[in-house]
Amino acid sequence: MLKQIAVESLLLETDCPFLAPQTKRGQRNEPSFLSYCMEEFSKIYGLSKEDISRITNLNALRLFGLKELPANGEIAYPIRSSLYLNVTNRCTSQCFFCVTHFTDYVKGHNLRLKQEPTTEEIIRIIPADVTTRYKEVVFCGYGEPTLRLDVIKAVAGHLKKKYNIHIRLTTNGHGNLIHQRNICPELKGLVDTVSVSLNADNPKDYEKTCRPQFGEITFDKVIEFIKDAKQDLPYVQITTVLRPGVSGEKYEGIARELGIDFRARIYNEVG
Ligand code: SF4
Repeated sequence: MLKQIAVESLLLETDCPFLAPQTKRGQRNEPSFLSYCMEEFSKIYGLSKEDISRITNLNALRLFGLKELPANGEIAYPIRSSLYLNVTNRCTSQCFFCVTHFTDYVKGHNLRLKQEPTTEEIIRIIPADVTTRYKEVVFCGYGEPTLRLDVIKAVAGHLKKKYNIHIRLTTNGHGNLIHQRNICPELKGLVDTVSVSLNADNPKDYEKTCRPQFGEITFDKVIEFIKDAKQDLPYVQITTVLRPGVSGEKYEGIARELGIDFRARIYNEVG
């Protein structure tokens, strides 16, 4: 049942004094025992205990209006064992299902930027122990990160030189269209993994679903970008949001044809 509930709608409480968690059976239940439940929740949701704690805490604060929440979006934010960098809120698509239309929050983080961070601000915010705390740094943005290609290149260059940490770029694949050139050679040695979201399997449906600012040519250009990325970067995958009526099979086929991996993403699940 829990899996049917978005973690963004979850609140935690104990049934004190009854129903103590399994490891505490026979004892009087109390709020501190929630930490045992959180361990199970983290397994069910595939998140860390810290994620569950942060998200449910924020849910409670928002629902009951307990505290004024920071108005500024976060620039760097952890989810699981990844550190995400929120470089822009702008996007060249307007996907009808995009979470940015409905909320400012992802996994307990406010991502609505008042202004885009500079390269220096991003570098300053990255913790010195980034390699021990995180397995990767991800350029994502609550929008399309390649709109800020220069920032990506400068920050990734710094991260590679100083920490040699794994770097992932999540993108809608419009980078070549935005910059009117093949940007993949410029990311060589800086980006290890590229996840391209592909939410239609043909140009017409792509235009209807993603409403890209470049029009009907966009789908073919995204496929071209994927091929270019495969030439220059170590690992490329496509991801698709499995909305009602959309199955992953066609996309698996496209990925197979392109010689890359496919990852299905759950509808209404971000981060
Ligand atoms: S590409 Fe991503 S950020 Fe842009 S509108 Fe679509 S879902 Fe939103």
